[in-house]
Amino acid sequence: MPELPEMETLRRDIDREVGGKRIKTVDVPGRTAVSRMPKKQLIERLDGVKISSADRRGLLLALKLDSGELLVIDLRAGGRLRKTTPREAVEKGTQIVISFTQGGQLRMIDPDDGLSVWVATPGELLEQEPVLTRLGLDPVVDPISWTTFGHMLLARAQPIKAFLTDATAVVGIGPVYSDEIMWQAGLRHDRESHLLTSQEMRRLYRAVVETLHDGAKHRGTTLADGRYHDLAGKPGGYQTLLQVYDRAGKACNRCRGTITKVRYHKSQLFMCPDCQV
Ligand SMILES: [Zn+2]
Repeated sequence: MPELPEMETLRRDIDREVGGKRIKTVDVPGRTAVSRMPKKQLIERLDGVKISSADRRGLLLALKLDSGELLVIDLRAGGRLRKTTPREAVEKGTQIVISFTQGGQLRMIDPDDGLSVWVATPGELLEQEPVLTRLGLDPVVDPISWTTFGHMLLARAQPIKAFLTDATAVVGIGPVYSDEIMWQAGLRHDRESHLLTSQEMRRLYRAVVETLHDGAKHRGTTLADGRYHDLAGKPGGYQTLLQVYDRAGKACNRCRGTITKVRYHKSQLFMCPDCQV
């Protein structure tokens, strides 16, 4: 599932490639992506409007329209976005095709039918997705202060894996980057956030900021499932820099210990039992 660095990469790509373009036509060949409103209404509300810029609310993309509304895109686990020429063959699983007056298309693809797209005013979006009013820190967009972060760790009193993957604490961190952040910080997943020493809190803070920025700088992580691609259809570059995620049995690059897969709730996580304490 795409996390913050992948969604930020797509946001920047869309802002650059699609920002300022006016919509000519909208085709909806897929049956599932437009389920929050009638297809006809989506097409009407996008007719002739210009996409002015691309914004992000947590992991949701919100494209600002010159009509004052937002084109909201929720990629979920397997959705992809592609900027193409009209001549390029239409991929299997293409759900929505937006053609621009200046040429070019924005295609939204999801063979697994998880992708969801709709148009809303900013006010409507907050009513539809109340979690957006409670979103936590977005380290890629806002510089977060060490003191704010430290206060949150103290106030939350929860295991740090739970803290990191809670969107009301920090947005957009899932299984991949949470494991990487904890390795970078040298901390175990089950350490309680409020019982960390102040030095450990600082290490965790630095790991959050640096790991997410690095992930975005390398244009995100394309895992073995090959799902995530950028707007040009290229894979990300951060998967080659992963230290623990999906590396069970391999040597830790810090201490040469063995990376281990550990059960975590109904899922699993990856860590180095020797240097994460
Ligand atoms: Zn290690």
